Amino acid sequence: MGRCEPEPENFEKLEPVKNNWLILTVIALFFLPPVLQAQKPPLLKLRYAENYTPTYPEIIDMFRLLDAHYAEARLVEAGPTDCGKPLHTFIISKSRQFDPEKLRKAGKTIVLINNGIHPGEPEGIDASLKFADDLLRNLDNRGRWLDQTVLVIIPAYNIGGLLNRSAYNRSGQTTPYETGFRGNYANLDLNRDFTKCDSENARSFTRIFQQWNPDLFLDTHTTNGSDHQYAITLIPPQPDLFPPVMEKMISEKMLPFLYGAMKKGNYELIPYVDWFYEDVRSGIRGGQESPRYSSGYAARFHSYGMMTENLIYRPYVDRVESTYNFLCALMKFASENGEAIRQSRKKGVEETLKMDQFPIAFQIDTVRFQTIEFKGYEPDRQQKSPVTGLPRPGYDRSRPFTASITYYDRYNPSEFVKVPRYYVVPQAWKPVLERLRLNGVGYRELARDTLIEVTVDYIENCTNQPASYNGHFYHEKVSTRSEVQSIQYYAGDWLVPVRQERMRYLIEMLEPRAKDSFFRWNFFDSILDQREYFSPFGFEENALRTLNEFPELKKELEEKWASDPEFAQNHNAQMAFIYNHSPWLEKSWRRYPVGRIF
Ligand SMILES: [Zn+2]
Repeated sequence: MGRCEPEPENFEKLEPVKNNWLILTVIALFFLPPVLQAQKPPLLKLRYAENYTPTYPEIIDMFRLLDAHYAEARLVEAGPTDCGKPLHTFIISKSRQFDPEKLRKAGKTIVLINNGIHPGEPEGIDASLKFADDLLRNLDNRGRWLDQTVLVIIPAYNIGGLLNRSAYNRSGQTTPYETGFRGNYANLDLNRDFTKCDSENARSFTRIFQQWNPDLFLDTHTTNGSDHQYAITLIPPQPDLFPPVMEKMISEKMLPFLYGAMKKGNYELIPYVDWFYEDVRSGIRGGQESPRYSSGYAARFHSYGMMTENLIYRPYVDRVESTYNFLCALMKFASENGEAIRQSRKKGVEETLKMDQFPIAFQIDTVRFQTIEFKGYEPDRQQKSPVTGLPRPGYDRSRPFTASITYYDRYNPSEFVKVPRYYVVPQAWKPVLERLRLNGVGYRELARDTLIEVTVDYIENCTNQPASYNGHFYHEKVSTRSEVQSIQYYAGDWLVPVRQERMRYLIEMLEPRAKDSFFRWNFFDSILDQREYFSPFGFEENALRTLNEFPELKKELEEKWASDPEFAQNHNAQMAFIYNHSPWLEKSWRRYPVGRIF
């Protein structure tokens, strides 16, 4: 018992044993025949209370033990990762059916939990092991949560990072004493990789996600954000990313349930507090995750995706147990609202399919806000450093406060695109097609070479980052202009109907200005190069012919001679003027190759 063993029927209360009758009951149970013992003991020996989190082999061994012991559980190899070791899923299914499609058809609600994406943030790993163990031994009749709900756990996502274990991986964190490393075997931050899918891990995750199509998705993390009194915070599904029926489910049912359930227990839950707040009393804002992040990725498939963020300054035992409580709350919510959750997703897709204008950018709403109670610590800029002896910014934990603070959690669309009927994607962009296919996007191939009238974008401006970001030079700013052109496409190019279940993902990946589009992540960078161009001497003869063919161009050139004396004296500038204002200028330069049919 003690803090690790919750009271029957009330998982939230993790009260220490106060009454002798409990001890007497335990003694009495000891003398009863085993069949009458209500509770089986846990199979797993977890050591998070000693600030120890299991190594990767230990994690898999423990799930293997559960698999061997319970017919309702199965540990499955689920695709490769960058370090050559397979990703696993651990499935708990009361019906002993483990096929995702059959389970969905049987009307089960699917909850998917991803752990260890950042191996230095392992609370979810420990909490999931304990949670799986307790569910399977039906602790406090929690097995009832599995009646209509199937739980899928990714025990450890960033295997390469977990194997790279050391006491020196998290400089801002004192416990657990040893953890894995943030980057994976290819030194990628996997929580930026969900759309670009550079890693095998992300490609395997995509298959898992698309197979299971989870109704609820949780990715577990730890933050070194501003200090406060809470062990656990939540990045909830951002309501404005979802169609109205799902927005309602989030705002009116899910979040009140989750915050409410946690409030009843030892570990109250608050919204995530970013690291950049010095004093939260001036207000905090909720984030909106783009699809490069796990929860943002889930949102693009009408899946309720969220992240827990434990605060590293709290003891590890509290971080693990608060995550455990959250898993209980989430599972309870899924089991009590399964039908409504699944219906809301179905209707949500229908609502999305009716959209004519689709938002591709949002801005925080500074008018709508909630007021929440917040338990913080006084910020203190004059704390004496025990290392340098000099003052440093921090928090004074001897001066806690409780205050009502403003929480901005709503976003308004700031940029729309018109929804086309089809995208035409030339087969030349194989990495793009591979990712669309991996994500289950429906398409057909052109049967023959076809001239199609499409609306295409020209990339007018895009910034290139000076340094590599997760293996790319992400385009921070992108502006475009559109033109209608007849373009030659070839047999095998893709015609992709936009109004399909994966419409949201499709638009956000193929509209070049959308935040995590394939264009932004450099998949189309070759279009930014000019392939032909001219030599100031070799172009002479053709330039002369061109001026004769296009008298208007000749007139423009002469006008520019008159208005711009510097230009009139610059041979190269004049040749460039003729080249850029005539059919010599290559039409495909900076033309984004995905056409739209309206
Ligand atoms: Zn993280």
